[in-house]
Amino acid sequence: MQDLRSTMQSSDWIPSSSLVELHPDPTKRNKAIARRNIPVGSTVLSTPAFATALLDSEKGHRCDHCLREQPSLKKCSGCGNYWYCDAKCQNLHWQTNHKRLCKRIGQFENSVTFQQLEKHERMDSLLLSHLLAQLSTLNEPYSPRESRELEVALELLPGPASNVSAPPVCPIKPAPPSQRLVEDLFARFGNNNFTIHSHLNSIAHGVFPVASRLFNHSCVPNAVAKYVFSAGNTVTMEVVSLRDIAVGEEICIPYIDPALMQTRHQVFQITYGFVCDCPACAFLSKIGTSVPEPPEDATELAHLGAKLRDFVGVDEYLKGAPVVAADSQPRSLDDLPPALYCVLHESYMSTLSEAFSRASHEGDYAQAAESGVTLLALYLLVYPKNYPQIGMHLLEMAKTQWNHSFVALNPAGEDKDIAKNIVFQLLDLAKSVLRVLGTEGDSETGPFREIEVLEDIARNA
Ligand SMILES: [Zn+2]
Ligand SMILES: [Zn+2]
Ligand SMILES: [Zn+2]
Repeated sequence: MQDLRSTMQSSDWIPSSSLVELHPDPTKRNKAIARRNIPVGSTVLSTPAFATALLDSEKGHRCDHCLREQPSLKKCSGCGNYWYCDAKCQNLHWQTNHKRLCKRIGQFENSVTFQQLEKHERMDSLLLSHLLAQLSTLNEPYSPRESRELEVALELLPGPASNVSAPPVCPIKPAPPSQRLVEDLFARFGNNNFTIHSHLNSIAHGVFPVASRLFNHSCVPNAVAKYVFSAGNTVTMEVVSLRDIAVGEEICIPYIDPALMQTRHQVFQITYGFVCDCPACAFLSKIGTSVPEPPEDATELAHLGAKLRDFVGVDEYLKGAPVVAADSQPRSLDDLPPALYCVLHESYMSTLSEAFSRASHEGDYAQAAESGVTLLALYLLVYPKNYPQIGMHLLEMAKTQWNHSFVALNPAGEDKDIAKNIVFQLLDLAKSVLRVLGTEGDSETGPFREIEVLEDIARNA
């Protein structure tokens, strides 16, 4: 039996505001346990980024310090490679990071060594350079004594791909004390870093050692990470509870998209080096390694969709009936009849979502409604309750419904009220799901703003 007190003493890096504590676990090193009963939609942990790097596609559209999207940004006159909201963001980034890179980053990014890297290696190289630049600005450069995050980062377990050497990094002065430290940090990248997103769109990669150290993965998670941007600050990760969590329960977040039913085992093995024992993975291993392919024939596909909608009870859900019970899955995968196993084939979700967006854009509303509702049923089956993807999809369904009822049909009288009510009902459901996660990402835009606009238009129609 491990001594609990010594574990507790060594976790004084956990922010005091957090609702979790770290306990030893016989199989998973540690687990994050709820310190008290946590209601749905609570912030379990709030932790600032230790280092970030914008995706190539976002460079010049977002501030390199606070990551907010801005219509006009000021370019660093030193290197011409970094952009900022204003002098405040630029000064803060300069002091904590950029002063160590500005002179050399341009030459480094133009070098053959950097240009020859694969796209993902270039991201790693920049993120690692930013991390080292930040560590070089400490009073005692690169010292874990000076940086709790560095101490925690080095405590993280290296991933299975940790024998891969670190990519080249931008030369920094003072240089890291040893290549060993650079390799040690990079060995934690693959299985610990996070993709930062705004309204579900990926915008950057980030190192958040405290979150990495605390949370294990589940494909049926009871919490999820969101990113909060604010002027002048580095991005903050907030881990939010997706449902009520009881004191003593383990809190898990998804490391990968829970919809990856077929490829997840491979990702766990190659990237993370663990076997997931969540209820969804237990079900998948029970039904065998290969998920059957869905039918290609249109009639059979339509029949399959109807069966899935029926199984999930999506019509009752849309009427606002409490199909989604207090547990994390509306209908447990365990009850899934063998005839529906093929809906778990990853191609089924992509076929449905392509059909939904194509039909919505082309104005084929009967088709859009059918694939939209079937896709909702699939989301309710594979995602945990209140998962943001469900809310975003309900919002898309509301937009399509609006275009169908008002733009295409232009109803009058009683028909108009019925049509309005369907749109409001979808928006209410979208809000009830998205409110759990709350505002995140770029605060000027996003689903809540879109919902307000559509509600206004519908009210005045
Ligand atoms: Zn900024
Ligand atoms: Zn610069
Ligand atoms: Zn799992």
